[in-house]
Amino acid sequence: MSSGWDVTKPLRTKEGPGAPGNRCGGHDGSGGGTAKVNEMPKDDGRVAEGGCRCGAVAFRASAEPTAVVYCHCRDCRRSNGAPVSVWAGYRSEEVQLTRAEPSVYESSPGVRRFFCGTCGSPIFFEDDRLPGETYLPAGVFVDPEAFEPEAHDWVSRRLRWFDVLDGLPRHEKSSILR
Ligand SMILES: [Zn+2]
Ligand SMILES: [Zn+2]
Repeated sequence: MSSGWDVTKPLRTKEGPGAPGNRCGGHDGSGGGTAKVNEMPKDDGRVAEGGCRCGAVAFRASAEPTAVVYCHCRDCRRSNGAPVSVWAGYRSEEVQLTRAEPSVYESSPGVRRFFCGTCGSPIFFEDDRLPGETYLPAGVFVDPEAFEPEAHDWVSRRLRWFDVLDGLPRHEKSSILR
């Protein structure tokens, strides 16, 4: 079974009502023009690495994530065993597996969740409704501090005893995650 790593679809830009548009560290400057555009690479060269608990599965993600969000949905909760998940989204071609292939489980039609077959750490998921995108949990990166969430998705599924008073946008469902 293909894990979909060869997908080379164009970037699906963040969309939806109220999307803040300023991604983590993004620099889509509008107006101005004082930046040294001649020396500005297309991507800023950010590289983030991570892997599973036992080290069998590892990955490298280049470029900036397209989104970093909390997801309170039940599917993520059961898959990750945590009251809420934080996902960093990337274009699939920006993520490379560098060690063993992960195992995969189709948690619902068109949604494939990849995990280490040895230690069970979640590694990423893909959704047919989000073609060309790969979402990795912030907690499996070497430096999770670098992935500060921008919004809460699926707050309609939030556990009553779990709350974060952070002032971030809250979406009852989501425009980018199920
Ligand atoms: Zn492992
Ligand atoms: Zn979710």
